Formats: sequence, C-alpha cells, structure tokens
Amino acid sequence: MTSALLPTYARAPIAFERGEGAWLVARGGERYLDFGAGIAVNALGHAHPHLVEALTTQAQKLWHTSNLFEIPDGERLGQRLVDASFADVAFFCNSGAEANEAAIKMARKYHAAGGHPERYRIITFEGAFHGRTLATLAAGGQQKYIEGFGPKVDGFDQVPFGDHEALRAAIGPETAAVMIEPIQGEGGVRPVPPQCLRGLRALCDEHGLMLIMDEVQTGVGRTGRLFAHEWSGAAPDIMSAAKGIGGGFPLGLCLATREAARGMVAGSHGTTFGGNPLAMAVGNAVLDVVLGDGFLDHVQRVALVLKQKLGALPDRYPHVVTEIRGEGLMLGLKLAVPNTEFAAAARAEHLLVIPAGDNVVRLLPPLIVTEADVSEAVARLEVTAAAFTAAMRGAAE
Ligand SMILES: *Cc1c(COP(=O)(O)O)cnc(C)c1O
Repeated sequence: MTSALLPTYARAPIAFERGEGAWLVARGGERYLDFGAGIAVNALGHAHPHLVEALTTQAQKLWHTSNLFEIPDGERLGQRLVDASFADVAFFCNSGAEANEAAIKMARKYHAAGGHPERYRIITFEGAFHGRTLATLAAGGQQKYIEGFGPKVDGFDQVPFGDHEALRAAIGPETAAVMIEPIQGEGGVRPVPPQCLRGLRALCDEHGLMLIMDEVQTGVGRTGRLFAHEWSGAAPDIMSAAKGIGGGFPLGLCLATREAARGMVAGSHGTTFGGNPLAMAVGNAVLDVVLGDGFLDHVQRVALVLKQKLGALPDRYPHVVTEIRGEGLMLGLKLAVPNTEFAAAARAEHLLVIPAGDNVVRLLPPLIVTEADVSEAVARLEVTAAAFTAAMRGAAE
C-alpha cells in the first residue's frame, strides 16, 4: 500500500488504539506490554488519570496565547524545575532537538557576552545523539544521518567516547563547551561513569567551558532521580530535557544557571509554540506525580528488580544476550543476534522494546510499571531469547 506520509520511518505493521498504564491495545484488541514508552516519552504510561484531567481541564479554558504574554503555569513549572535542580532559569520549547539548539546557542552566547565570540566550538562524543536539526546532527556527528544534507554545521569537534586524552587534546582557544548525555541513549545505552562526569566538570571549570548535559532521554525520573546527573554529584551549567517531561505531550526544556544564561536577553531566542498553556498544564501534572511522595523510590525499587531479573539472561542465553547495561529504567540488552530481529521477535510475544546503536535493544518502560509488569516483560524476553537459541541449535544440527 502506498502511503501519503514521507517514508522516513520503517514502521512496524501495527497501530494502537488506546493505552492503559504500561499496556497498549492494538486495533484488533491484542494487548502489548509497552517497554518502549514511545521512546522514553510516556513516563507515566498511557492515559494516566492525572494527566488526562490536567489536559482536558486546560483544553476547555485556553490552549495558546504566544510568548508575547505572561503564562502563569509556565512561571510555575519553571520555578518548580529550578527549585528541584541545579538551575536558576528555564526555557520551554517543543522537542529535544530544540532544547539542544537552545543549549548550544546559550553556550556560544555566554562566551560572546563575555567578550569572546571566537569561542563557539563544542566538543561532543562519538555515539552521541542530540537530534535531527542541522546543528544537532552536527553535534551528534553520525555520518549516516548527516550525509546528503549539505555542508555540516560548523563548530562541533567529536572525540571517542571515554577517551580522556582525546578530550583534553580537543580543547582549544575556540572551545566554548562540552556536550554530553549522562547515558548515551540512541548510541546503545552507554552510561558515563559518575567519576568521569565529575572529572568532566573539573575539566570544564579549569578551561572556563560550559558543561552542557543532554538529559532528553535520561531526565524526568528515568534513572530514579529527577535528572540522571544527580547520581554523580556533578551539575551541568546548561541542561536539555524533553521526552518524559510532557508524558506524551510535546514539550522540551532547557535549564541553566543564571551565569550560563547571561547572554540571553529579550529577543535572543524564541519559539511560537514553546511553553504554551496546554503544554504547561501537562508539564506541571507530570511533575506533580514524579516529585510526589515515594515516586522516585518506586522507580529505583522496580528498576532494581528489573535489572536483577535481566541479569540471568546472559548466563542462560549467552549466544543471544551478552550484556545488560544502563541505569534505572533505562536498560539495554547487548545482543549477539541482530537487534531489529530481536525487537520484532519480542513484538511477536507482545512485548515492545526499542533497538539502539551498538546492537542493543533498549528497555524504557513507563516509570509507573509494577513488579508484575517487570516479571511479565522478563518472561517474554526469555521466550524470545530461547527461540533464538533453539533456532541456532537447529541450524547447527
Ligand atoms: C531523542 C533525543 C533527542 C532528540 O529529541 P527530539 O524530541 O526527537 O528532537 C536529543 N537528545 C537525546 C539524548 C535524545 O534521546
């Protein structure tokens, strides 16, 4: 069947009609356990009553006014995020890439405002993913995404992941910032060790660089803290977030210290849709739950159970699953079989997981998953892994 949509996605042949918590229901009525959460977006699962209430109540009052006027719910959400984080100021937009664009512009403007406009280059890491706009593509540096789209945006220097020497060597008089995901998501669930984040903080301080953390995937409770960098004790100067923060409503966020934001004044940056009343109502509702009593404890507890149960897979199916990695409810299975085939096979068991780089499948369940959901997911992963093992045995005979 030909589609009227631009064919930029290889979509699975399935459409969902509704969702309930960690479950999605397809058109035919079949139920799928959703351990992808729309790529870490549905932080509170599907049809969470508090989010539905917030969205529908706001929808009856006011959707959009533009940023030419005050938006009280945006002031409130910004203040709550500032109170709960390293930051002094917040900027709202609509996506992760836009949040990173704001972060990149802010880091460059910081130096320009300090009399050093020549400091505009940003160091990033191989395997990174920062979005699909022209600048964030250049930041991510992945050739397969960049090719064919004209001259690469200038100003990004990429170093190998974990190569401290290369990182030091890349710092020059034009360097403005270092940009890093605390756990590489698309790159294959590769955590940056806490001591490396602390070392990076010290390195940035030593050279007067802005430290930008991209928490688009790791943020908003995903690892059991509001933001993943909190585990390390090293705070960024500028941070982006998006995916989970709207719980499924498009919402992006750039947080910064007042110092880092010193160059950003009226007119420096903008967005028509960003932070509109609908988005702000939902964002506040997501925070009500995530910052609510015991919620992050729940995430930590259920994540531990999941990781413990997954730990048996590499032992039992060593020719299929070779490693479990990640933090909190952002876990990766490094595979010895093709990850897209594994994801399709899991889908046949009515479990949704998401392929990532480095031949990994990601488990990114909604943060509201129960221990029963976790047991069910692991049971379905076992069935999937066992089927691959049996097929390999069959082929060997
Ligand atoms: C998804 C993602 C982005 C891009 O977010 P979009 O909303 O798709 O623009 C940027 N950075 C990281 C770490 C991501 O996971």
